[in-house]
Amino acid sequence: MSEQQPESVRQAWRDVVDTARRSAADGLVVGTSGNVSARVGDLVLVTPSGVPYDRLGPDDAVGVDLEGNQVIGDLGPTSELPLHLAVYRSTDAAAVVHTHAVHATAVSTLVAEVPLVHYAAAILGGPVRTAAYARYGTPELADAMLEALRGRTGCLLANHGTVTYGDTLDQAYDRTAQLEWLCHLWLTASSVPGHTPALLSTAQLAEVTQALKGYGQRG
Ligand code: 13P
Ligand code: ZN
Repeated sequence: MSEQQPESVRQAWRDVVDTARRSAADGLVVGTSGNVSARVGDLVLVTPSGVPYDRLGPDDAVGVDLEGNQVIGDLGPTSELPLHLAVYRSTDAAAVVHTHAVHATAVSTLVAEVPLVHYAAAILGGPVRTAAYARYGTPELADAMLEALRGRTGCLLANHGTVTYGDTLDQAYDRTAQLEWLCHLWLTASSVPGHTPALLSTAQLAEVTQALKGYGQRG
């Protein structure tokens, strides 16, 4: 990326690359699956399509405007650009993470909504929905995702993977990790022959949502 780019943009690109590498290192994607983006003002930095994350350096940055016109870089943007831009156009997200995390993807083939086996669903804004299947990279997939994201910060994509967003890349990434963990938990609990997992009620989840506002350290 040109030295002329402001430090905020160069830092955002380093964070995008770090997050993409982390998704591979943590086993949430294999090879060049998945993609990551971050918004800096009207600029969206995205991972390039089909390039291994360990090969990405400072000169490989890809930036587009909110209409999808490329304004930084020579490599072509992720094939899921319509999905990333749809999130930025309809929320105040600053970062979007898409993965093919195995337990979450397995659950996306089984249910329209992840059963409420754990209060971690509150971290995603409530029971996580599965977006209807559409081919990767299509505007139809972006539309189905927006429908599933209503009131949530993450969803499953049927027979495909996960999408989460957040105020920072760390937050978007943590939501993906929580969603994958939640799906792993449900698959584990629902695999015990002769038993069906107990589920939380929506009232119990609402109580958690309230409590989480005061979770962690103050100040
Ligand atoms: P890209 O390499 O184009 O980002 O595609 C990966 C992917 O996960 C498509 O859904
Ligand atoms: Zn994908």
